[in-house]
Amino acid sequence: MRHFPIFLALSNRAVVLSGGGDAALAKLRLLLKTEAALHVYAPDPAPEIIAWDAEGRLSLHRRPMEACDLIGAALVYAADEDDAQDARTKRLAHGAGVLLNVVDNLEDSQFITPAIVDRDPVTVAIGTEGAAPVLARAIKAHLEEHLPAGTGTLARIGQGFRKMAEKLPFGRARRDFWQDYYFNAGPRALPQGEAAVQESLDTLLDDHLTRKERAGFVAFVGSGPGDPDLLTLKARRKLDEADVVLYDRLAPKAILELARREAIMIDVGKIGFGPSTPQEHINALLVEHAQNGSQIVRLKGGDPTLFARLDEEIDALTDHGIGYEIVPGLTAASAAAAAIGQSLTKRGRNQQVRLLTAHDTDGFADHDWRTLAAPGQIAAIYMGKRAARFIQGRLLMHSAAPDTPVTVVSNASRADQHVLETSLATLSADLDRCPDGPALILYGLAPRDALPTVQHLRKQEVS
Ligand code: SAH
Repeated sequence: MRHFPIFLALSNRAVVLSGGGDAALAKLRLLLKTEAALHVYAPDPAPEIIAWDAEGRLSLHRRPMEACDLIGAALVYAADEDDAQDARTKRLAHGAGVLLNVVDNLEDSQFITPAIVDRDPVTVAIGTEGAAPVLARAIKAHLEEHLPAGTGTLARIGQGFRKMAEKLPFGRARRDFWQDYYFNAGPRALPQGEAAVQESLDTLLDDHLTRKERAGFVAFVGSGPGDPDLLTLKARRKLDEADVVLYDRLAPKAILELARREAIMIDVGKIGFGPSTPQEHINALLVEHAQNGSQIVRLKGGDPTLFARLDEEIDALTDHGIGYEIVPGLTAASAAAAAIGQSLTKRGRNQQVRLLTAHDTDGFADHDWRTLAAPGQIAAIYMGKRAARFIQGRLLMHSAAPDTPVTVVSNASRADQHVLETSLATLSADLDRCPDGPALILYGLAPRDALPTVQHLRKQEVS
């Protein structure tokens, strides 16, 4: 982070600007929204600046800026659009020790002005360190769409009610109240005017004060295969609302960061064959936090209904009368198939696809190998790396063709996605070419010859 974002109190502080043309106008339009005392130095100012001076909104000085003009100033802008003039302003600013911005000159500036979404008192500042103004504009447009014009009014009225809201206990109860105000009651009342919004706050507070203690609740949320873009909207919302998040080892940082900053984050990562949080301990944690009234997200990689020990956790909850819901996620098999440009089912090839785990509680899992060994069968094998030799042996023993295509997709959908193209005969020997990380074995499928994107081609390792 080259530039540290802060919000500067400018009330009655002097902000000095040198320049009277278009660049000066653009900066002044923004600065006029603040409560700063604006001083403009311009021998030849644009008519707008003259008008603002006449209206008393700024002080215009029709001469070049001098050193003494900068004494006590908070900020200075070099906006002459002339290298020699700007260099002079820069010298004066450095001499006076006042923070300087040279318009359209990142290198010479000590601070930069971000793109701003203005819903006063709600202000969002967007900066890209000068790297991508187009991106900053796109983010601004996006935020503007999501922060309706009334947001500022709601925040202003809400601000005046903060003391009243302290009647609610600190924490969850107060947060729920404000959530309800900003996203339900407030926007509903706004079209009827500010008095109606004020009234809605009184009614809402009564409602929340008499409300019964909220019951704890667990959402089993599928986080998909890893790419945060593959999260469902509902998963995002649940993360955003959770008081407590229990997550496994595979949960990517970018997804965990979607939780609220105050949420309690508990790592219950289980490492296959290695140290792990015992399942009973996870169950106990869920029950304990739910009994405290927390809204819990139990985050599970992929889809929570597949190879995720979901039922044991649900049983623990139902034993204690705790409510839950399941939020489905995209399973690894879907992401792996997408990575190699193939369908999991195809007319004339396979009408069914098997989702298998290679090991269960007793070690390597046994399956109907004979059926699977028949031509044209497709299976997505989860947790298959360590069991690869076993699977290979069983299938060959049941007369599967040694040249049956097999593809191992590691870290599907993640930045370090890797595709290994092999065959049943060469599977276990080739596996050491896979990188670390979760891997899905697609039995019966080879990557499509022409993969959909260049990105995939680059990542593909052809054996
Ligand atoms: N519920 C998960 C599966 C959990 S079992 C789901 O629906 O995807 C864990 C196994 O899932 C891993 O051993 C691996 O086989 C597979 N897996 C999970 N994420 C993966 C990913 N991004 N790429 C490849 N395989 C993955």
